[in-house]
Amino acid sequence: MAEIRHKALAGILEHSNGGSMPQKRSSKRKISEIFGENVFDMNTMKEYLTEGAYYAIVAAKKHNKKIEIETAETIAKGIKKWAMDMGATHYTHWFQPLTGGTAEKHDAFYKPSSNANGIENLTAAELIQREPDASSFPSGGLRSTDAARGYTVWDPTSPAFILEVETGKTLYIPAVFISYTGECLGYKAPLLKSIEAISKAATDVYHYFDDTVQSVIPTLGCEQEYFIIDAGLFEARPDLMLTGRTLFGRKSAKGQELDDHYFGVIPERVQLFMNDLEEESLKLGIPVLTRHNEVAPSQFEFAPMYEELNVANDHNMLVMDLMHKVARKHNLRILMHEKPFHGLNGSGKHNNWSMATDTGINLLSTGNQPGNNLPFITYFINIIKAISVNADVLRASITGPGNDHRLGANEAPPAIISVFTGSEMAKLLDEFEKTGLNPNAPEGNPKLELDIPKIPSAILDNTDRNRTSPFPFIGNRFEFRAAGSTQNCSLPMMTLNTMVADQLILFKKSVDAKIAEGTDKVAAITEVLQGYIRESKDIIFNGDGYSEEWEKEAEKRGLANVKTTPYALDALITDQAKSLFERNNVLSRRELVARYDVLQEIYVNKISTEACLVKELALTHIIPAAIDYQSKLIGLFKGYQDMGLDTACKDVKNQIEEIHSHTHAIRESIAQMDSAGEKLHSCTSTSDEAKMLNDSVKPFFDIIREHADSLEVLVDDSNWKLPKYRELLFIK
Ligand code: ADP
Ligand code: MG
Repeated sequence: MAEIRHKALAGILEHSNGGSMPQKRSSKRKISEIFGENVFDMNTMKEYLTEGAYYAIVAAKKHNKKIEIETAETIAKGIKKWAMDMGATHYTHWFQPLTGGTAEKHDAFYKPSSNANGIENLTAAELIQREPDASSFPSGGLRSTDAARGYTVWDPTSPAFILEVETGKTLYIPAVFISYTGECLGYKAPLLKSIEAISKAATDVYHYFDDTVQSVIPTLGCEQEYFIIDAGLFEARPDLMLTGRTLFGRKSAKGQELDDHYFGVIPERVQLFMNDLEEESLKLGIPVLTRHNEVAPSQFEFAPMYEELNVANDHNMLVMDLMHKVARKHNLRILMHEKPFHGLNGSGKHNNWSMATDTGINLLSTGNQPGNNLPFITYFINIIKAISVNADVLRASITGPGNDHRLGANEAPPAIISVFTGSEMAKLLDEFEKTGLNPNAPEGNPKLELDIPKIPSAILDNTDRNRTSPFPFIGNRFEFRAAGSTQNCSLPMMTLNTMVADQLILFKKSVDAKIAEGTDKVAAITEVLQGYIRESKDIIFNGDGYSEEWEKEAEKRGLANVKTTPYALDALITDQAKSLFERNNVLSRRELVARYDVLQEIYVNKISTEACLVKELALTHIIPAAIDYQSKLIGLFKGYQDMGLDTACKDVKNQIEEIHSHTHAIRESIAQMDSAGEKLHSCTSTSDEAKMLNDSVKPFFDIIREHADSLEVLVDDSNWKLPKYRELLFIK
C-alpha cells in the first residue's frame, strides 16, 4: 500500500498545525557582529599571527608568493591557537575532488605523548600537507590502483574556517588535491593556475592604459538556484533520494504557468530555513545578499555578493553543503539537481564574472562614456573574441547528465554558446568597428522619464537583460548562465579564465608588433580590436535564444549545438583544447584527458543508476499500484455482472484494459531497455559507454515514464505510492 506517502502527508499536516515545526533558531545579533566570526580572516590573523607571518599571507594572496616553511610554522601555531580558543578539537583539509562535491578527513589536534596528558598541536607539515586515501576518488587514470597516494596541500589564499555540529567544532583548511606525481586530482589547483594566467595577461594589457596597476583578479558572484521540499515526501521518493530528480510524475494541474511564485511571498517554513542558512553563512564570512523565489513552485535562489573568484567558488561549495545541513534541521530537503521536475524550469548556477584591478577598477564597468572608454572596450571585445574561438570548450565545461535536461531542451539557455551584448553595446561595437573611439560618445546611462506624479525618473542600465542567452553582458559583468546548479563552478570558471588569458596574450602580441612597426599605441589597439569585431560577429546574438529560428540561424553561422554530455565533452580532447590548457600552464594534456574520462565516467554511473531505478520503480511501485487497482475493478466487474449491468460492465472492462495497455507497454519497454543495455559489454572505452547509454538506453526513460504518468490519472489516488507533483511542489 501507499503507506509511506500517506504518512509523509499526515506528518506535514501535523507540522502546519504547529506540531513539530522547527522554530526560528537564528539569533537577533546584527549582521556586522556575526559576519566572519568563524573565519580565520585578515583581522583575526592580525591578532594571532606575527607581523611577518601576516604579510606572508598577504603576499601569497596578492602576488602569488610561496610561503616559506619557517613562516608556515608560525602560521600553524597561530591558526591552532585561534581554533582551540574557538573550541575546535579537530582539523581537516577541505578539498574538491573530481566527484564534484567536497571532501574532508578529520584529525585531532590531540596527540598522545610520553607525558601522560599528551599534547595538542598543529605543525607546519600538518598545516601544509595531508594524505587522504586518493584511491577513493576518481582520477581518470592519473593514478594507478596500486599507487593510491594523493596529497592535499594548503591553499593560503582562501581563509580557514570552523564548522560546528552539535558534538563539536572542526577547523577546516582549504586545500588543493594532487597525486604522488604532482598532477591535479581535484578542481581547485587548475582554478588557481587559471587565475594566475588571467591575472598576468590582464595586468600586462592594462599597462597600456596605466602602468601603476600591479595586479588584476577575476571576480565571481554565484547565483544558486534550488528546490526545497518536505523531508517526508522526499523520503517517499526513491528517485529523488538516489538520483536527485523525479524519474516519474505527472505534471500537476497547476504548474508555473501563472508565474505567481516568482517574487511571491516566501513561504514561512522556507523563510525560517533561509534565516538559519543566512546566519550560518554569515558566520563563515559568506556575504549573503539576495534571496528570492524563482519561477517554478518551490524553487528559490540564493545570491551572495561577489568576491575574488577562488574564495567565491569555495564559498559556493560551502553554501551547497550548508544548505543540505540546515535544511535537515527544518525537516526539509534541498534538490540541487538541474531538472528535478519534468515540465517545470530547472535550476542553474549563474556565474557573474568580471575582473578588477588592485586599484579597485572593474574592467567591465562601462564608465561614464563607454564609446570613449578604451580599457573597457579592449576587455569587452577580447572576451567576445575568446568565446568565439573556444565556444565548444566552454560548452564542454558545463556538461553533465542533469544539465542535459536544461540545455537544448527549450529551456534557458540553449546548448548553443553565444554572447548577448544588448542593443547599446551592439551599437557601440558597430561604431567602434567603423570609426574607433568616439570622444563625443554619449555620456551616462539613458534616462526613462516616468509620467507618474512624485516618482523620480529611472536610470536605465546600459543593457537590457536577456534570460535566454548563455553568456549575456549585464552592464558591468558577464553572466555565464549555462552552468548547472549542482556543478563545481571551478570547471567553467577555469575554462573561461584560460580562454580569456590566452586571447589577451595574443592581443598583446599583435598590438606590440604594430607598435614596433611604428603605429601609435591607441591606433594599434584600435586596429587589432576592429579586426576582432569582424571575426567574432557570429558569436553575438541579441535575440530570443529559445526560439527555433535561432537554432536554424546558429546552424547557418556554423555554431555548434551539441545537446548531450558524452558528445559535448569531446571538445575537451581536441588538439586545440589540449594546447590551450597546456600553453597557459593550467592543465597538462594528461590531466585534461583524465578530466574528460572522469566526466564520462560520472555520466555512465549516473545514467546507469537512473536506468536501474526506472526499472525498479516501474516494477515495484507503478505496476503493483496499477494491478492493485485493477483487482478492485475486477471485483467490481464481477459484481456488475451478477447484477446484469451490461453497460457498467463494459465501462469497467475498458478501464481494466486501458490500465493493462500501459502496464504491458512498460514491461515491453523495460525488456527492450535491458537488451539495449547489454551492448555496454561490447564498449571499448568509457566514452563509448556514455554514448551508448545516451543513444540507446536513455530514450527508454521517457517512453516508460509516459506510460507510468498516464497510469497516475487512471489509478485510484489511494493506491498510488509515489508522492505526486502537486504534493511535492505545493505542500509546505
Ligand atoms: P539577478 O537579478 O540576475 O538574479 P542577483 O542580484 O541575484 O541578480 O545577482 C547578481 C550577482 O552578480 C551578485 O552575486 C552580485 O554580487 C554579482 N556581481 C555584481 N557585480 C559583479 C562583478 N563586478 N563581478 C562579479 N560579480 C558581480
Ligand atoms: Mg538573482
